Amino acid sequence: RTLLEFKHVSKQYGSETRALSDVNFAVKEGEFVSIIGPSGAGKSTLLRCINRMIDASSGEIVFDNASVLALNKNELKKLRTRIGMIFQHYNLVNRLSVIENVLHGRLGYKSTLAGVLGLYTKEEKAQAYRLLQVLGLQEQVYKRCDQLSGGQKQRVGIARALVQDPKMLLCDEPIASLDPNSSKVIMEHLRDICSKMGITVVVNLHQVDVAMNYSDRIVGVNKGTVVYDGPPAGLTKEK
Ligand code: ADP
Ligand code: ADP
Repeated sequence: RTLLEFKHVSKQYGSETRALSDVNFAVKEGEFVSIIGPSGAGKSTLLRCINRMIDASSGEIVFDNASVLALNKNELKKLRTRIGMIFQHYNLVNRLSVIENVLHGRLGYKSTLAGVLGLYTKEEKAQAYRLLQVLGLQEQVYKRCDQLSGGQKQRVGIARALVQDPKMLLCDEPIASLDPNSSKVIMEHLRDICSKMGITVVVNLHQVDVAMNYSDRIVGVNKGTVVYDGPPAGLTKEK
């Protein structure tokens, strides 16, 4: 079953930069897909069009049978709870603890006073602890995020993205700031999240070898267009 589909998607920034032009590809439910390409290829723009952090200029993006460009404000909020996002620079709140950052993942849709004040239910907290345990952060739960290593910070980012039980994770260069060891840990967690939790993973990477190691499928992007769409093995032949 197709979970995500790009149909003739283009994105123009101002009048000069065409970041995406006529992009077409699809992602199946449960797939692990890497988007690869050099810096400036349009990977980040592509990813951000999915949950409408950026609006595409034309074309259609379908997620779970709904056209994301047609969603109203409330529907868009709901969509964002179903799509977790992970960033290169983690985007954590440094002065807060690990557990507070994870629970913060819920603020996105909790516009209630309880959400703003950080009052969470027992179940919500228990789930956050569980996720931190899965990610090997049980010793870090009450530490401030600015005391963590980069790899630990990214694992907090992953827990925060998972706290809403998303259907899909979008990861924008999740290992670009990490050393090889931490990168491996992060990629293995993402792979497990896909195969054990059944969450579809779409990840932007500029390291081709990493993409080939972990992905079911690779979408190669260059200058805003798709130049490869197929299994990792096919990429070797092409080169
Ligand atoms: P990648 O993630 O592959 O490095 P990006 O999607 O960040 O590529 O960028 C694609 C192109 O769009 C680049 O030429 C970049 O300079 C341009 N671009 C990205 N964001 C903006 C923006 N907010 N305003 C103008 N141009 C942008
Ligand atoms: P409350 O004060 O609202 O009861 P708690 O923070 O005491 O919230 O705990 C909520 C739930 O989170 C508990 O029922 C427990 O299952 C779990 N929990 C609390 N602290 C930890 C911890 N350090 N490690 C693992 N699970 C915990």
